[in-house]
Amino acid sequence: MELTSLKGIGEKTAGAFKRLGISCVSDLCTYYPREYEAYSVPMPLYELRPGSIGVVEGTLSKDATLNRFNGLTIVNAYLSDMTGRLQLSWYNIPYIKSNLKAGSRYVFRGRVYEKNGRLIMSQPKMYSPEDYRERFEGRLIPVYPLTKGVNNNLLIKAVGEALKTEDLASYEYLGDNMLEKADLMPENEALIRIHFPRSNKELMNARRRIAFDEFFMFLLAGARLRERVKATRSNYKCRPEFRMINFIAGLPFELTKGQSDAYKAIVHDLNSGNVMNRLIEGDVGSGKTIVAVLALMYMAFNGYQGALMAPTEVLARQHAETIMKLFNAQGINLTVALITGSMTAKEKETAYEHIKNGDAQIIIGTHALFQDKVEYKSLGLIVTDEQHRFGVAQREALSQKGEMPHTLIMSATPIPRTLAIILYGDIDVSVIDVLPEGRMPIKNCVVNADYRERAYKFINDEIEKGHQAYVVCPAIEAEDEEEGAGGNLENVLDYAKKLSTALKGRRVAYLHGQMKGAEKDDIMMRFKEGEIDVLVSTTVIEVGVDVPNATVMMIENAERFGLAQLHQLRGRVGRGKAQSYCIMINTSDTEKAAERLDILNKSNDGFFIAEEDLRLRGPGDLFGVRQSGEMVFNLADIYSDKEVLEKAKETVAAVLGEDPGLTMDIHSRIRLRLDNYMDNGYTV
Ligand code: ADP
Ligand code: MG
Repeated sequence: MELTSLKGIGEKTAGAFKRLGISCVSDLCTYYPREYEAYSVPMPLYELRPGSIGVVEGTLSKDATLNRFNGLTIVNAYLSDMTGRLQLSWYNIPYIKSNLKAGSRYVFRGRVYEKNGRLIMSQPKMYSPEDYRERFEGRLIPVYPLTKGVNNNLLIKAVGEALKTEDLASYEYLGDNMLEKADLMPENEALIRIHFPRSNKELMNARRRIAFDEFFMFLLAGARLRERVKATRSNYKCRPEFRMINFIAGLPFELTKGQSDAYKAIVHDLNSGNVMNRLIEGDVGSGKTIVAVLALMYMAFNGYQGALMAPTEVLARQHAETIMKLFNAQGINLTVALITGSMTAKEKETAYEHIKNGDAQIIIGTHALFQDKVEYKSLGLIVTDEQHRFGVAQREALSQKGEMPHTLIMSATPIPRTLAIILYGDIDVSVIDVLPEGRMPIKNCVVNADYRERAYKFINDEIEKGHQAYVVCPAIEAEDEEEGAGGNLENVLDYAKKLSTALKGRRVAYLHGQMKGAEKDDIMMRFKEGEIDVLVSTTVIEVGVDVPNATVMMIENAERFGLAQLHQLRGRVGRGKAQSYCIMINTSDTEKAAERLDILNKSNDGFFIAEEDLRLRGPGDLFGVRQSGEMVFNLADIYSDKEVLEKAKETVAAVLGEDPGLTMDIHSRIRLRLDNYMDNGYTV
C-alpha cells in the first residue's frame, strides 16, 4: 500500500521516507528501531552516575536563572529531593526559564555529566510528575535511524499508523505447532512489540521471533540451493597444470602457509570430479585475493571461465587491476574482463561479446556479472569476495549461471567453524590464520575530539614521509541524521573542506556511496597512484580496498560503528612494510563506548575482537551497536542469537524432512514467503 494512504503522510514526507528505504506501508512495519530509550521510574539523586541518562523527581529550590555570554544563553536551576541536590542546565533554550518555578515538583530526564566534582544534568526534558507517570514511566520508546525531513516523532506516528493499517495477521507462515515447539511469539505480535514494547521481556521476545524469521528464510533458501549442488559430479573437472608452479615461484612474495594450504585444497577439489563448495576465511589483510587469483588461473589454464564477484565497484576494479598487473609481470597470456554498472553501453556490449565467445577467461565485476544479459561460454568457477555482503537472491542468480560451477567464497568475518556449518551447510572451510611476514602490528589509540589537532599534525608528518591517510566519517553531509540520533556526526563533505584548511598544501579528496561509479573509480585510482594524500570517506572503503602505502586510519565518531566494522576499516592500513596507525575518535562519554573501543585498542585480531564483543554485549544486550555490515541479516546476529539460529535450523530440517519440495498444503505459506524472499532477498 502507498505511504500517502496513511494519515499525516503527504508526497513530501513520502519522498523523505524513500531515502530511508521505506517505500510502502509494509516497509514501515519492518523498519526496526535502532535502539530504545528507557523511561524508568525516577531515581533518588544520590544514585545518579556521570555518563548515564537519569530520570529524577524533586522540587526546585528557587526560580531558574538565565545568563548570557558570548552569544550563548544558559538557564540554570537546582532540583532537590530527600537525598541531595542537582544542577540542571539548558543551553540556548532561554524561554524554558519561565516554566521553572521555585517550589514546584517536576520530573526531569537527561544525560548527567561531572564537572568540578559535581553532577550536572544537561538539556533535560521536563514533565509534570502526573504526566510522566501516565504516559512515560516504564515504557521503552523506539529510536529510529533518521534522515533530513524525518524526525523520530514522525516515524513513531507513521509506524503506529502502518501497524494499524496493515493486515499483520496474514503474515504468519508458521503453524501453531511450530510456534509452540520453537517457543515463538506470533509474528503479528512481534511486529508490533518490536516497535512498541511494554517491557524489556516483551522486547526480547519480539526480537527473538524476528531473528528467527530472518534465520529461517536464509537457511531454507540455502538448503534448497544446496540440494542441487550436493555431491554433484562436476562438468569442469580439472587436471594438474604445471604453468602454475612457475607463476607461484615468480610472485613478488612467497605464499604464507595458510595461503598455500588453501590453494592446495582448492586444486584437490577441482581435480576431484565433484563440484567444489569451499569457504576461505582469513582476517583482513591475510591475503585472500591471491588465492582467488590462483584458483581462477587454474580454471583458465584448464580451459574454463571463472568469475570473481565483489560487493562494490571500487573493489571489483581493484581486483581487475591487481590481476592484470600480476599477469603482465610474468607475461601470462590470459584475458581479463571487467564488468561494472558504470561502464558505457558500448563497453558492456564488447565485454559481453568476449564473455560469450570465450575470449575472456577471467571475468570480474559486481553482481552485474549475473544479469540475464551476460552469457558465459563455459563458466566453471564462481568466486565471491566478502561473501557476507551478498543476499541469497544474488547467490541464487549466480548459481544459475553455468552448469553447476565450482564455488569459492572468501570472507573476513570470523565465523567459528560450527557456525559456518549451520549457516552454509556442508561447506568445506580453509582458514588463513597467519598474516604475511614482515607486517608490523598496527598501533592504535582511542582519544576524544580534543586530540584532533594533534592527529592532523601526525597525519601531516606521515604525508611528509611519503605516506597517505584515510579519515572515515559516519555521515555524508550535514544533517544526514537529525536530533535523537545523537546529533553532531562528522560528515564527509564538511570534513574534507575543514581538513583542506588544516592541512594546507596537502591533497585532500572525498569519497562516498552516493557518488557516481566513474567518479568513485577516479578518486580511488588517484589515491592508489599517490596523487591524493588524504581520503575522507564514508564506510564505502570498509571492504577490501588495498592501498599499502596508506599508513593512517582516522575514524571519527568511532563509537557509532560496530566493532567488526571498525576492525574492517582499520584493515585498510597495515598492508605494507611501514608502521601503520589507527586513531579512533570517541565522541561519546559513556563507559560502555570506552570499554568497547578499548577492545580494538588492545587487539588487532579479528577472532579475539568478535569474541570480546560478544562477551561484552552478552545475550541480554541486544541493542548495542549492531555488527552492521556483518552478514545479510537485518536484525538477527549470528553470535548473540545463536540459540535462535539453532532453533531455526531444526525447524528448517523438520519442514524439509517431511516435505522436501514444500508441496504440502500446510506449507503453502512457507513456500510463498520463500519465493518472495528469493526475489527480494536482502542486498548490500
Ligand atoms: P585480504 O585478505 O584482506 O583480502 P589482500 O588479498 O587484499 O587481503 O592482501 C593484502 C595485501 O597483502 C596485498 O597488498 C597483497 O599484495 C599482500 N600480500 C598477500 N599475500 C602476501 C604474502 N604472502 N606476502 C606478502 N604480502 C602479501
Ligand atoms: Mg579482500
